[in-house]
Amino acid sequence: MTTLDLPAAFADSPARALVCRECRHEVPLSPVHVCEQCFAPLEVGYDLDRMRQVTRKSIEAGPHSIWRYAGLLPAGQDLATRVDLGTGMTPLRKANNLGKALGMDNLWVKDDSANPTHSFKDRVVSVALSAARAFGYTTVSCASTGNLANSVAAHATQAGLRAVVFIPNDLEQGKVVQTAVYGQTLVAVEGNYDDVNRLCSEIAENEEWAFVNVNVRPYYAEGSKTLGYEVAEQLGWRLPQQVIIPMASGSLLTKVDKAFRELVTLDLVEASPVKVYGAQATGCSPIATAYENGWDTVRPVKPDTIARSLAIGNPADGPYALDAVRRSGGAMGHVSDAQVVEGIRLLASTEGLFAETAGGVTVATLRQLLERGQIDPTAETVLYNTGDGLKTLDAVAGEVGPTATIAPSYNAFTKTGLA
Ligand SMILES: *Cc1c(COP(=O)(O)O)cnc(C)c1O
Ligand SMILES: [Zn+2]
Repeated sequence: MTTLDLPAAFADSPARALVCRECRHEVPLSPVHVCEQCFAPLEVGYDLDRMRQVTRKSIEAGPHSIWRYAGLLPAGQDLATRVDLGTGMTPLRKANNLGKALGMDNLWVKDDSANPTHSFKDRVVSVALSAARAFGYTTVSCASTGNLANSVAAHATQAGLRAVVFIPNDLEQGKVVQTAVYGQTLVAVEGNYDDVNRLCSEIAENEEWAFVNVNVRPYYAEGSKTLGYEVAEQLGWRLPQQVIIPMASGSLLTKVDKAFRELVTLDLVEASPVKVYGAQATGCSPIATAYENGWDTVRPVKPDTIARSLAIGNPADGPYALDAVRRSGGAMGHVSDAQVVEGIRLLASTEGLFAETAGGVTVATLRQLLERGQIDPTAETVLYNTGDGLKTLDAVAGEVGPTATIAPSYNAFTKTGLA
């Protein structure tokens, strides 16, 4: 494909080319994700002059969604191909109660459970499907640990695209139902996420489909940058001092870090250091384990954790997440499933915020980093909650329930001593 073939829908995109993350080889914008020279992942490269046309004012005048940052994203400038369910601009909540419980002075929670399908995946899917449409695809697909399936099915349906979604057959019922309800094609595969992903790579070679996390992954990944932009804007156009982020493939963490650096380059915020911290569940902690052991490579594991949305045993962006955390002076941690449940309950009982297991992982990891003196309790810190607790009810269903069960009489109630 030459630049002349670039679909018209990309005319106003600030994206310039796809660039290899290792050898820097460049190819024109197209639905590919691997470097033909060295097989490393490709990433979107931008025309900085075009990006510089974006100002705080132009952003603030934009829609109350991720699309206010369209001038900093690779796709979606063209309204005819933009896929928009109103994703983004989720609340940044001051978490004084949780902060107090943890001994922190200045803690915020960025609550991405408020997105249309209740997880951060709506951000990446909005951008991926906008790119897919711009390239002319009519069928979109993905391998998912659950949240991506929900999001792809919903966004494709609204955009008039066909979706074929692949999931491991042992997913939480909430995530299966929340995907199936849109009436798209849902295939449950007898295997774990890494098996599903391998299968999808094979299908991708034979079908003219846009796989959001395979052939259009470079565009997909850029959607996560909006979680960095929004926090900076919501803080009044400045960067936090510390952020703590859950990791599956590691992509989200690397893109939040990239977003902060872009904002500085574009003079949209003043330069100030941001330490980046990564969180995983011990039952699937290939990236945090590499960090702990000082390894540069990530050794694949077989996932076994209730935090299924983070259960990627062979994380594509693991080495880049390690780089980002080490470069920033942050750290990583991993926590047991019991600690994940405690984390969910701590966030709920302090902030009235019910997170899915990934949120529990992040809260519990923050507590661990504090206990180990690896994170500063006085620095302004943003914790990313990436999904809704209603998606993973099973994780806490056995732990909480009614305070009392009584006969419908006043006498029965007084006997409980609850008055
Ligand atoms: C997908 C996901 C993440 C992180 O994904 P990456 O692959 O690391 O980008 C975090 N939280 C939730 C709830 C997710 O679904
Ligand atoms: Zn390369």
